[in-house]
Amino acid sequence: MKYRLGATLFVLSILMAGSPAAQDARGLLQAADKAIGASAVNSVQYNATGWIRFLGQNFTADQDWNRVDLQSYTATIDYGSKSAKEEYVRVQGNNPRIGGGAGFPIVGAPRTTNFVNGNAAWTLNAQGQPQAQTGEAEVRQFMLWVSPHGFIKAAQQDPNVSVTDRHFVRTGRTLKVIGFTTMGKYRATGEFSDQNLLERVVTWIPNPVMGDMQVEIRYTEYKDVGNGAKFPFHIHMHQGDHPFLGGRNLMDLAISSAVVNVANAAQAVPDAVRTAKPPVVNVTTMQLAPGVWLLGGGSHNSVAVEFRDYITVIEGPLDDDRSNAVIAAAKRVIPNKPIRYLVNTHHHWDHSGGIRAFAAEGATIVTQESNKDFYERIVLAPQPRSLSPDRLSKFPFATTGPGPQKLETFAERHAISDGTQTVISYHVEGLNHAGDMAIVYLPGPKILVSADMGPPAAGTPAANVNANSVTLYNNIKRLKLDVTQHVPIHGNPSSHADFERTVAPAAAQQQQTAAGAGQ
Ligand SMILES: [Zn+2]
Repeated sequence: MKYRLGATLFVLSILMAGSPAAQDARGLLQAADKAIGASAVNSVQYNATGWIRFLGQNFTADQDWNRVDLQSYTATIDYGSKSAKEEYVRVQGNNPRIGGGAGFPIVGAPRTTNFVNGNAAWTLNAQGQPQAQTGEAEVRQFMLWVSPHGFIKAAQQDPNVSVTDRHFVRTGRTLKVIGFTTMGKYRATGEFSDQNLLERVVTWIPNPVMGDMQVEIRYTEYKDVGNGAKFPFHIHMHQGDHPFLGGRNLMDLAISSAVVNVANAAQAVPDAVRTAKPPVVNVTTMQLAPGVWLLGGGSHNSVAVEFRDYITVIEGPLDDDRSNAVIAAAKRVIPNKPIRYLVNTHHHWDHSGGIRAFAAEGATIVTQESNKDFYERIVLAPQPRSLSPDRLSKFPFATTGPGPQKLETFAERHAISDGTQTVISYHVEGLNHAGDMAIVYLPGPKILVSADMGPPAAGTPAANVNANSVTLYNNIKRLKLDVTQHVPIHGNPSSHADFERTVAPAAAQQQQTAAGAGQ
């Protein structure tokens, strides 16, 4: 008993004095605090122009994210209320019009407004009404603690904050690197110059595709902004960097003005957000043809196809939660058969974020060959997923042992067939949205599954038909597919007769324009 009491006192005294590493870190943080006046900064607001990119929506998996320009950007951070507002206007500018993402390529100059306040996150819709984004709150709040002043505030709060010396061979500099943990699990590291300025943050946020996804933020061009505070006038951010991929740029801000301790910086949570119900994963099932089921009920559909001895599922979108619910629904409508294949339309993260759960199930992932390295070496590879563990990370296959046959890739065509049922993937030609895009054709029921290419609502005027729908039309003709029913990953099934009536005039117009341009 006496021994235990002594041990407890010993632990307490260490906590109170802090370890030598923590003391070194505290000294550096005090100097860093003084250098930019962090403690005296309650809020900050800054304006910028620059560019932003669409995370996970690159044209092919080996390229950087697709980029658009920021006509304006304003951020307001209020540390006391743990709230922030980010408002920006994007324009397409002269950036290449290849790649995906909601609203890409940009038409006009749409405004985006994102908020966080503690555990609440929301955005404004086109009508200016608040829309809850509960799933975004945690990471948005964490981003406050990797802002220039927020980093120093949060690091000072961590009793286990520590510092290390790091020599950078390529620049010949030795920097001090602070590491701390906040919000119970998020670890951030920051490199400090010999003027005690925070130059670079390296950290991780959870992502269904990348796991613990690396985020890098570079802060340069510090200037005085009043009240004894400094702020960096150039912010450059990466998200999704990986040694097998290289750099993935997300945002670059050239700051034109910054002020600290602004009035009314706290962002009040609107009632509609406060009372919003947490999102639930909803999977509805609808039979499309004998042995073919639409698994809908969310923003992205999947399709389950019954073979003699197994199930093939087309598309594993969004994330682990969605896929596990889709897997359960597929097994409910097609009982007592394993899921042997997951057929993927393309690598965009909203369409591939759930493929890991199918791999955990033992299914082989069918995808276009340009995704081979990305899927095999990164998405499906055993690597840390400590921030948001998923089924495959919690139940990994032994690297040496009998595992699933992870991937089947194809250049132009891939067929799954057992004599009773056939599912064929065709690579789509001439699409600006994704270089690896596949459409998935079921010759039995004459169903065509497609992603991000419409079909447009029946009767849409030719001028309003999306170029991606015209590309779908041209590929159906090229491949001479006999289609009766369209089953899009987004939205409801529709008839090919409607598709033909709506898209054929737009396709004819586009051909005429192309012929005219060639003269
Ligand atoms: Zn896409």
